Amino acid sequence: MTETGAGTGTGMGTGGARPRVGASSCLLGEPVRFNGGHSRSRFLTEDLGPHVDWVPYCPEMEIGLGAPRATLRLTAGDRLVSKSGAADHTAAMAALPLPAGLDGYVFKAKSPSCALHGVARFGDGGQPVDHRGRGVFARRVTDRYPLLPAEDEGRLNDPVLREEFTERIFAFARLRALLSAPWQPRDLVAFHARHKLQLLAHDPARYRAAGRVVAAAGRAPRAVTEAAYRDLFLAALSARATRGRHANALQHAFSRVGRDLGRSRRADLAARIDAYRRGTDPLSVPVAILGHYASDGELPWLAGQTYLEPFPAALRLRHAVPR
Ligand code: SF4
Repeated sequence: MTETGAGTGTGMGTGGARPRVGASSCLLGEPVRFNGGHSRSRFLTEDLGPHVDWVPYCPEMEIGLGAPRATLRLTAGDRLVSKSGAADHTAAMAALPLPAGLDGYVFKAKSPSCALHGVARFGDGGQPVDHRGRGVFARRVTDRYPLLPAEDEGRLNDPVLREEFTERIFAFARLRALLSAPWQPRDLVAFHARHKLQLLAHDPARYRAAGRVVAAAGRAPRAVTEAAYRDLFLAALSARATRGRHANALQHAFSRVGRDLGRSRRADLAARIDAYRRGTDPLSVPVAILGHYASDGELPWLAGQTYLEPFPAALRLRHAVPR
C-alpha cells in the first residue's frame, strides 16, 4: 500500500494527529476499475483529503488482474470468481497482506471484492440468490479489525454516518499517536481526561471502565494496559451518540464550569442545553457556546476537551442532529 496525503489542516481538537485511512483506490480517482475507469468521491478527495493520509489499495489490481479486466462476482458460498466461473480468485485474495496502523477504511460499494454490505451472490445457475454478501477483501479487513471504523462511500452520503465516521477516525488517530510514543501513565490520564465529554456522549459505561484501566496503568504491564484501553476506547466510540447522551455530556460540562461563568452566561448555556435536549436546537448551538467560553483562556479543562472540536472545523460537519 502506498500512502498519500495532502495539506496540513488540523483543528484544535484533533491534537495534530492525521488519520491514516485505507480506501478502495478507485474512490480516490485511480483508474483501476474493471472498465479502466474510476469512482472518484468528491467528499473523500476534496473535503476529507486535506486532513488525512490516504492508504489506497485495489485488491483486484494487487492480485494481478490489471485494468481493464473481466468483471468478477461473488458466489453463494462467498467465493470470488470470474463471471463465467472459469477463474477462482478466492485464494489469491486470501493471500494478500492486510494493512496495519490504520484509523479507518472507506470501501467501494457493490464491489465483490471491496463492498461492506449488500453484494449480490450468485448461484450455480448464474442467477443472484441474495444480496447479503460482503466483498472478500473487505471481509478480511473487518474480521481482522472488528473495531476499525469502516464505511462504504455510499453510506458516507448520510450526514450523520459521515460525522460519526469522521469523529472516530480522528479519535483513533489521536490514540494511535499516544500509544506509538513512549507514553507514561500520566499521559494516558491526560488523554482520557481530554476525551471525557466525547466518551460520555457515546458510552458512559465504557468511559468509566476505561477510567479503571487508566487508574491501574502504573501497576499493570504496559501491553496489557494498551490493549485494554484501546479496546474500550474504540468500542465506546462505536456506540451511537444519542441526543440523551449528548445532553448529559453537555450537562456535565455545565456542572464543571458553570460556577466560573457569569450569571447571564450560565443562564444562556443552561437554556441552550435544555433546548437541545428538547430537540429545538441542533447540537452545534450549545457546543458553539461552550467553545466560545473556552476560547477566553479561563477554562482550561473545557478548552482541552476534544468534544468541542473532534475533527477539523473546516470540515463543517457538525450540523446534523444526532438521531
Ligand atoms: Fe475499486 Fe476495489 Fe474494484 Fe479495485 S477492487 S476497482 S479498489 S472496488
